[in-house]
Amino acid sequence: MQDSFTEEQQQYVKGFFAGIDARGALLPNAEPADAAPPDALRAAQKATMAAGGKLVPQEEVKAEKHPLDRWDELVGRADAGRFPKALEDFVGRYHGLFYVAPAQDSFMCRLRIPGGILSPWQLRGIADIAEELGGGHADVTTRANLQIREIGAAHGPEVVMRLGDLGLLPRGTGADNIRNITASPTAGIDAAELVDTRAVVRKLHHHIMNTRDLFALPRKFNIAFNGGGAVEVLEETNDISFHAVRVLDGFGVPAGLYYRLNLGGITGHQDFARETGVVVPLEDAVRVADAVLRVFIAHGDRTDRKKARLKYLLDRWGLPKFITETEALLGAALPKVPAEALAQGVHPAKHGHVGVHAQKQAGLFYVGVVTPLGRLSAAQWRGVADIAGRISGEIRLTVWQNFLLSGVPEARVPEVVAALAELGLSTKASHIRGGLVACTGNAGCKFAASNTKKHAAELADYLDARLVMPHPINIHLTGCHNSCAQHYVGDIGLLGAKVERGEELVEGYDLHVGGGAGVEQKIGRLIRPKVAHDELGPLVAGLLGTFLVQRREGESFHQF
Ligand code: SF4
Repeated sequence: MQDSFTEEQQQYVKGFFAGIDARGALLPNAEPADAAPPDALRAAQKATMAAGGKLVPQEEVKAEKHPLDRWDELVGRADAGRFPKALEDFVGRYHGLFYVAPAQDSFMCRLRIPGGILSPWQLRGIADIAEELGGGHADVTTRANLQIREIGAAHGPEVVMRLGDLGLLPRGTGADNIRNITASPTAGIDAAELVDTRAVVRKLHHHIMNTRDLFALPRKFNIAFNGGGAVEVLEETNDISFHAVRVLDGFGVPAGLYYRLNLGGITGHQDFARETGVVVPLEDAVRVADAVLRVFIAHGDRTDRKKARLKYLLDRWGLPKFITETEALLGAALPKVPAEALAQGVHPAKHGHVGVHAQKQAGLFYVGVVTPLGRLSAAQWRGVADIAGRISGEIRLTVWQNFLLSGVPEARVPEVVAALAELGLSTKASHIRGGLVACTGNAGCKFAASNTKKHAAELADYLDARLVMPHPINIHLTGCHNSCAQHYVGDIGLLGAKVERGEELVEGYDLHVGGGAGVEQKIGRLIRPKVAHDELGPLVAGLLGTFLVQRREGESFHQF
């Protein structure tokens, strides 16, 4: 495939996005087309309106003035000591700042950490910011990222600037943007991996950050790379899933390593990324991602927020048309192979993100550390940074809300484990706690029906006191249908719900079972709606207890 667009392709792209004649003053404050160069956002909005669609209010905000051009408004509000109102908050999210009232009268700042990899000095800096300008803690998210919470009205832009000093710009981590790119946390250190994804993640991250058209999406967008290693990445829950595969000889493309391209994952809407049959040459991943994004930008729904994700464009068009449009933009057909062309890959071990493991570099180990549902104090993060600086080298966040310390010399593993223990952290977890994830919940998110992190901890305490599971299981608690904690892919998935108890409404969950990802890929099924939070323990213990009694030899809970 070619490295850059030809003149002819550029003309095609221009026509593709321009869509219609812009002279009709279709947009509020629209400038004449010949005075303002058409960009992807303007063209897509015009096309929507030309087709008779009414833009949602968020699109009108973007049309007035692009949110990236409104940083000064954030600074002005901070100088006045006030938080944003209504759609001002939507604008702030383009810069990584979320006003999270009424759950908390403060900002949350969501960082952007491509591939989840941090150096010790960056982590130390984040801990300092969390302590000086936030609530004194930082939380690992389910996108291998960090969030700093409880930031005052006057300090939002200062947090963003301080992160910038660390080389971490949280631009586009909220609103209608491409979120933190996730990837195998063991990239480059994993003997089992097919591809070290660090370079492509870095390249795509910078491509996104430096391509203004890619801040023109109709809705948020997730991208993940799985290098084929030992830790699950849940890449099939992303809008674009790149999964490293080896293509065998005899299938019309040169044998070797590629990324299998799957599209439209959004498990909160009960859909995994669908198989396209496309295999992307490793060097073309950024260009293909760019083309997919541009087709989505041009044709995604801007009239209904609930139908604006990529999945719905694929539903509307069908996969073949989407691939054809992507190929037209690229100016070349994408290589496709049948499933039998792919060599059998390595299946990651469930809970492979926990514990001490040998790296592919002789004599070095990575250490998977369990966090209490992602939250560590600034002092703990500073301690982790000190250990990494002294002994290992890097901190790698995972989508399982924990982290790995990589590059630990074998002889110093006990020292690392002991130093972590002094911080109150462990490299061991029960088969229940190792895959326990929870979204922010109503302690910090206005959408949540329940206090997910608190209830997750209570549930794990209850189960660990009564059961020993023979195999790892994953338990996901999510506060609302946005499903940040992916409840549909948990062996046990809990979706926040209000539950009637007499005259009262209490916090609780809809209980799902049987979900999974990777080789266990399946959407969990609802078996009991509206379970009060204090009835979860006995109910889930009963379920798992039944499994323990009735299971066949070697049978996992997922197979049960
Ligand atoms: Fe908030 Fe819902 Fe996401 Fe939980 S799943 S953090 S409640 S938006």
